[in-house]
Amino acid sequence: MGTLGIPKNTIDILNKYDFAIQKKFGQNFLIDSHVLEKIIKAADITKNDFVLEIGPGIGTLTQYLCENAREVIAVEIDRMLIPILEETLSDYENITILNQDILKVDILSLVKEHNNNKPIKVVANLPYYITTPIIMELFEKKIPLAGVTVMIQKEVADRIQAEPGSKDYGALSLAVQYYAKPYIAAYVPPNCFIPRPKVGSAVINLTPYEKPLYHVEDEALLFSLIRASFNQRRKTFANGVNNYEGLSYSKDNIIEVLNALGIPVDIRGEALTLEQFVQIANRLAINNS
Ligand code: SAM
Repeated sequence: MGTLGIPKNTIDILNKYDFAIQKKFGQNFLIDSHVLEKIIKAADITKNDFVLEIGPGIGTLTQYLCENAREVIAVEIDRMLIPILEETLSDYENITILNQDILKVDILSLVKEHNNNKPIKVVANLPYYITTPIIMELFEKKIPLAGVTVMIQKEVADRIQAEPGSKDYGALSLAVQYYAKPYIAAYVPPNCFIPRPKVGSAVINLTPYEKPLYHVEDEALLFSLIRASFNQRRKTFANGVNNYEGLSYSKDNIIEVLNALGIPVDIRGEALTLEQFVQIANRLAINNS
């Protein structure tokens, strides 16, 4: 089986199996070898690595991963792709294919069984309809991660990497940056896929912090404050938190904390850094206890 990362081989294999592309699974297959090489480079894959691939499709990126990594596990939801993967990956012995929904896979057990609980690398051209739940689950479930390198919508990549004050900065930027350092390795146009997606794409690399960046008294409170302040973007932080259903702090409460921290009382959430959110959350948590 030749490399799939060119249009002709991809079309040939889809035709051979009379495969019907499933939009509902976010199927856009990569057909550009330069992009595939960029993903492998951005993920810094070596023969020491254990890789989890989410959504192998017809196995295009998987072939590159098998060539470069020690072991690969690929989780694909669409059972119609399994016979195709068996053919396109038949040359490799370091691959396990699981026909499952990644959101239902116990990734922690998988890492324990297959990699002795040592950090894994996650590499994927993600199905765009579940980009955020997949990324957040990897971090929130505290999967041992050495790196996450994924193709996602350009717009989501820009939001993840955004800094305070930019229009893209929001709850997603803070949630991801709490766990990892983002770096956009490449922007990828729609003509690198079959079928072409309607939006531009980007390869983003997320390097998890070995130790948490900040001491946080109450993570749930921190994330509620972040959600509250971006829920009503145009309101000040104090008003946003005061109006947020899940939190019971008065406006005076919040203003007192902002004053104590030397933060302007009319600041909006979009101007607060992650460190400031942490400082506010820690003060409120300590005042409460
Ligand atoms: N890796 C291939 C490539 O780069 O050409 C395919 C990428 S395509 C954007 C996304 C893949 O994820 C599809 O094969 C799709 O069937 C699969 N997928 C969608 N939802 C999934 C889920 N919940 N769990 C596992 N795989 C899923």
